Amino acid sequence: MKMKRRRFFQGSAAMAAAGLGGCAAMGGAAGSGRTPFAVADSTIPVAGSDMAFPVRRIYCIGRNYRAHSIEMGSDPNREPPFFFQKPTDAIQFVAPGTVGAHPYPSLTKNYHYEVELVAAIGRGGRNIPVASALDHVWGYTLGLDMTRRDLQRAMGDQKKPWEIGKSFDHSAVLGPMHTAAQTGHFREGAIWLKVNGQVKQNANLNQMIWSVAEQIAHLSEANELFPGDIIYSGTPENVGPVVKGDVIEIHIDKLPNLQVRIV
Ligand code: MN
Repeated sequence: MKMKRRRFFQGSAAMAAAGLGGCAAMGGAAGSGRTPFAVADSTIPVAGSDMAFPVRRIYCIGRNYRAHSIEMGSDPNREPPFFFQKPTDAIQFVAPGTVGAHPYPSLTKNYHYEVELVAAIGRGGRNIPVASALDHVWGYTLGLDMTRRDLQRAMGDQKKPWEIGKSFDHSAVLGPMHTAAQTGHFREGAIWLKVNGQVKQNANLNQMIWSVAEQIAHLSEANELFPGDIIYSGTPENVGPVVKGDVIEIHIDKLPNLQVRIV
């Protein structure tokens, strides 16, 4: 009983403070708490558990493997890492052992796959040092950073934002989250992608230009990281197109494979 009362008073104090301090401190979520309609939460199931991992933001690093960087027209030796985001409602979760139906998107004639390791933040922070960055990782999964390559390139050529090429419905394909306690951290290991059984991408995680720890350090200088943020850690070389009917299978050592059919 004592505990309950204490919590009640703490809550009241927080609400009073928010009233004085304005909306910013509450992330703009002032008001009665009632909403005119429901908006779906973005979560990914946690493997071997009835829990779901709540996704706050989806960050993606660009050009993080040397050979892919070159194939995209960059100099891998000089460029600092750069990041973009996908909306969390772009997530398409695919359970292991199933083949997800992935819709071919509108507006593109050159739809590309990118297989990637995805790291999930469990403890936030800003200006996180590389040496302790992996302590902030809650878990890992694998995913596809699906890309309207023709639109990405066209927008890049016009010095306009990539948004339409990267941040569209269903573009963030993900498997279930595995805790870092279960899998350990991913510093090396095979990463590959097949289309219709044929190997297209085939590399090792140790070929990343910026490690997961370095990505977290850099990203946390630009934005404070929070639990629920996930980071697509980049794709190896030999990205390429798929068409309707193609089946994509992706693999990272220590994680179950993920499969989608383009429909
Ligand atoms: Mn990517």
